[in-house]
Amino acid sequence: MKKQLQNTITHHFMPNEFVDNIFEITPELIKGLNKKAIITDLDNTLVGWDTPSATDEVKEWFHRMNENGIKITVVSNNNSERVKAFCDPHDIEFIARAQKPRRKSLKKALSQMEMNSDDTVLIGDQMMTDVLGGNRLGLYTILVVPVKNSDGMSTKINRMLERRVLKYFERNNLLNKGEDDNSNI
Ligand SMILES: [Mg+2]
Repeated sequence: MKKQLQNTITHHFMPNEFVDNIFEITPELIKGLNKKAIITDLDNTLVGWDTPSATDEVKEWFHRMNENGIKITVVSNNNSERVKAFCDPHDIEFIARAQKPRRKSLKKALSQMEMNSDDTVLIGDQMMTDVLGGNRLGLYTILVVPVKNSDGMSTKINRMLERRVLKYFERNNLLNKGEDDNSNI
């Protein structure tokens, strides 16, 4: 029974990779994974939740992915105004009010890019929305450390749950990926 619960929690919330920021995710990494497209969260993933526009570093990241033929769609739970203002100047496709972890918008992003779940990496800063949604759809999920620490109320609640799941992973030694080559997943 315990093993079953462990498998369920891991299956839903464990990302395939943890990184400190999106800049660790290079075109070479994406290609090395045999992937061709990225679905990424916006707030606290690409920039802080209160940063309206892409920084030069993020613009360069978009550019490098584009140069390497890697498609990007921003899928955000935030409103259209915010997401459109961020994406439009850089010709980045987006879906706002996505209601992650629901799969509908993620599926829509895949079909707009003409990609399958096998081809696509999902990047986000939250387990309860980004990783859960991506894992449910069978995407390769990468959890980034949030760009900014302060969050809105609903995110605060998600973070509390997230800490509990992370503690659970720690207690059960599920975070030592290098040593134990994912045999628990
Ligand atoms: Mg976020």
